[in-house]
Amino acid sequence: MIKPAYRWADQQINDLKKSGLYRHLRTSESGPASTVEIEGKEMLMVSSNNYLGLAADQRLIMEASKVMQQFGVGSTGSRLTTGNSTWHEKLEKRIAAFKKEEAAIVFSSGYLANVGVISALAQDGDIILSDELNHASLIDGCRLSKAKTMVYRHVDMNDLKKKLQLARNNQNKFIVTDSVFSMDGNLAPLPEIKELADEYNAFIIVDDAHATGVLGENGRGSTEHFHVDVDITIGTLSKTIGTEGGFAAGSFPIIELLRNKARSFIFQTALPPGMVAAAIKSIDIIEQEKSLLYSLRTNIKKLQKQLAEIGFVTMPTPTPIIPVLIGEAQKTVAFSKQLEREGVFAPAIRPPTVPEGKSRIRLTVMASHTDNDIQQVCQAFYTTGKNMGVI
Ligand code: PLP
Repeated sequence: MIKPAYRWADQQINDLKKSGLYRHLRTSESGPASTVEIEGKEMLMVSSNNYLGLAADQRLIMEASKVMQQFGVGSTGSRLTTGNSTWHEKLEKRIAAFKKEEAAIVFSSGYLANVGVISALAQDGDIILSDELNHASLIDGCRLSKAKTMVYRHVDMNDLKKKLQLARNNQNKFIVTDSVFSMDGNLAPLPEIKELADEYNAFIIVDDAHATGVLGENGRGSTEHFHVDVDITIGTLSKTIGTEGGFAAGSFPIIELLRNKARSFIFQTALPPGMVAAAIKSIDIIEQEKSLLYSLRTNIKKLQKQLAEIGFVTMPTPTPIIPVLIGEAQKTVAFSKQLEREGVFAPAIRPPTVPEGKSRIRLTVMASHTDNDIQQVCQAFYTTGKNMGVI
């Protein structure tokens, strides 16, 4: 007899399939690079977050292996019990120095950093003002917090101001925003947010997941790019840094408070020391090898320009994220499949990751893409776009 739970889940899956929202795993048979072998087919990778190509850098691999020989592959405990090591503390100091902040705290992922920071700091009686296109992990942090959340229209400073006025009498006010919006590649207007925060006495929490190692003269992120101060910068080690983990950086007392109150820090096994050591090496390389940032920036401009030349409307942003809007989820999946036939791997991004009717191909540029790679991507987009009536 089929169990009711089985029948219910099967029905849910069928509904997802009918609406073009069914997701399945794709299996890669090679390591992170600008080309990738997926299910037996070699393709150009234009959708990873490995913007500087550091995830497969031999120096990081050697560093992780060396530390693993000494510390093993797992940390075996939470930071506050048995999992803390000299490497974790070194990484926190390294992140603080890189981000030009007093202190930092490392989490096991960027997701856990976001949910941990927001739910620990924003308390009952407080207000969180959250951009409507914030990453899911910021949204989940707001949901976990006992504070009330008001969502303001995407990067709309008039709406943020109105909501700050409504929140005048609340205890603490937190403005929470991605600095680089992960599915659109545009930037939050941090200088304007800072002005409003000062006027209304609000704290700013910025998620620098896609800005760390990308924006600013030295790749320090959005605060370096805009030359503004915020209260807490959150980030991930799993994108440009090329490893695993997340962090928050800020003043000594804020970080001390997080160490005491962030549940995703307290109740989570620490990252393996080898991984942590690789992250330190990665930050060293980002600071020392400016040519990586230069190549990334040159490639971003080239791809944006060439896509525009063949008829795709893209926004000029300084980030490696270039969304190509298709619209309907099913059409976007078909577009992505056609790109694969042309040797280009760029999965469809659909609801709930993006709003209904705004499905897209999220292209990302890497420092290691060659001129030929960029031409191949544009050729594939041209052929597919013409075939499907998108351009
Ligand atoms: N914040 C943003 C803006 C992201 O894009 C992501 C990654 O998906 C995260 C946070 C979560 O980071 P992690 O993958 O390290 O959990």
